[in-house]
Amino acid sequence: MDIEAFRKAGYAAIDRICDYYATLAERPVKAEVKPGYLINALPDHPPEQGEDFEVISSEFEKHVLPGITHWQHGKFTAYFPSISTFESMIGELYTASVSNPGFNWICSPACTELEQVVLDWCANLFDLHPDFYIKSKRGGGVIITTASEVVLTVAIAARERALRILSEKEPDVEEGVKTGRVPDSDTPMKIREKYGQRLVIYGSTHTHSLGAKAALLLGLQWKAVPVSAADNYSLRGDALRRVIEEDIANGLVPFFVIGTVGTTNTGAVDRIAEIGQVCRDYPTLFFHVDAAWAGVAYSVPSLRESLRHAEVNEYADSFCTNMHKWGLVGFDCSLLYVRNRQTLTSAMSMTPFYLRSKESEAGEVIDYRNWQLALGRRFRSPKLWFVLRSFGVSGFQKHIQRGVELSSRLGDMIRSSARFELVTPQSLSMVVFRLNPGQSPNALASDDLNKLNSKLSSRLDHRSDVFITPAMLGSEEGNMEVLRIQTGGYRTTMEDVLAVWKVVEEEGEALLRERE
Ligand SMILES: *Cc1c(COP(=O)(O)O)cnc(C)c1O
Repeated sequence: MDIEAFRKAGYAAIDRICDYYATLAERPVKAEVKPGYLINALPDHPPEQGEDFEVISSEFEKHVLPGITHWQHGKFTAYFPSISTFESMIGELYTASVSNPGFNWICSPACTELEQVVLDWCANLFDLHPDFYIKSKRGGGVIITTASEVVLTVAIAARERALRILSEKEPDVEEGVKTGRVPDSDTPMKIREKYGQRLVIYGSTHTHSLGAKAALLLGLQWKAVPVSAADNYSLRGDALRRVIEEDIANGLVPFFVIGTVGTTNTGAVDRIAEIGQVCRDYPTLFFHVDAAWAGVAYSVPSLRESLRHAEVNEYADSFCTNMHKWGLVGFDCSLLYVRNRQTLTSAMSMTPFYLRSKESEAGEVIDYRNWQLALGRRFRSPKLWFVLRSFGVSGFQKHIQRGVELSSRLGDMIRSSARFELVTPQSLSMVVFRLNPGQSPNALASDDLNKLNSKLSSRLDHRSDVFITPAMLGSEEGNMEVLRIQTGGYRTTMEDVLAVWKVVEEEGEALLRERE
């Protein structure tokens, strides 16, 4: 393809994308295909001769689009939003046009510096503590693929930090420091052997599975501290402290705590200050705040208090939010902020001869490879830059507020319904509810209600015009099966919300009639 052919095919691609968006509302939300549909439709080997680009493009429409679940659809209310905007798409296009692995500043200085600029812009947008700014030279932000990889990254860094703290307490190291003699070179290995298997990661039973997964991948223990429905499923400091003290008594070493602002099940906000206080009492503990979904709401000052913004600023060692969920930037774009960048760089730095550069050695630049697991990295900042500039702070805030407003109107409808009830207070752009026809107040963990809601959820699962996720709320009071709707989609309107709710009501009514 030469430049002129690219010009033509590129314009045609944009036209096709515009047609897709113009007809999005008419499409089902969920893909209506059976497993293997695409594998069966496509040949099992690449073409011998290159094909016409027009043909390839039309086959994307013909074969791929039917297998797409339309996350950009106004009636998409499952999981969390994964918004893309035209601004973000154009940013991605520019990224693709200068493709490079960006591991060092010198790979393409703009890749590192634009990332630094937009990460400080976001720190400003979310009013983060000055330590989280790159210009503080102490901490700073970096774009990582996803919130799960962020936790893995930070947990590895926190493990190194904990082992370092522990090693300073080892008799031969202590002695070495005192006498000025270097302890024997096997010491780090010995420390690892001694403590490595005893390190524990903590979260709650409502922490995203990223906590358990990080522990699994690192060969460490994961402890999910129970929460209570009476606390709206948020993790309390006392409950965490009890588990930690018991673990220490059993010879385990607590090193990493995940607090969540906006849990996946209900949007609960853990008691950040209480947890932070526990972390301060145990020097090996590192406190990560996972605000993958809800963190972008820090852009709106009036929403900050309920999301414990000041507590995060005071206590978190690291903080993560996903711009690729509710934040108008296409997948992937997860922001990680650390209060002390050395926690990352002392665990992740690796500089073989061929990665050296004079700018790095002079300490003048950031080499983001030392802030992440992999060496190479995508140039993700243009899409974020385009979105922030095109929307402006006020446009971004308006988008967040609209999602909250849609949910609160849906919440009002559920509250006044005779058949449904809200099971937790509305959290931002999410409502959590269940069918409870008798409106029995103390039926919290009733098996019958759980079965009823499980049936409602499978009825809804058979419909492709809506996409609604169920959740199982485990707590000290028992398990409760519920449904959740999030209204944060960029293209979601009140009409969409009403239409989705109508489907839920109809399926609920049909289910109740069936039981009579
Ligand atoms: C969505 C979400 C995650 C997972 O995010 P990824 O970026 O897909 O890894 C983790 N934690 C919370 C609270 C979330 O909302």
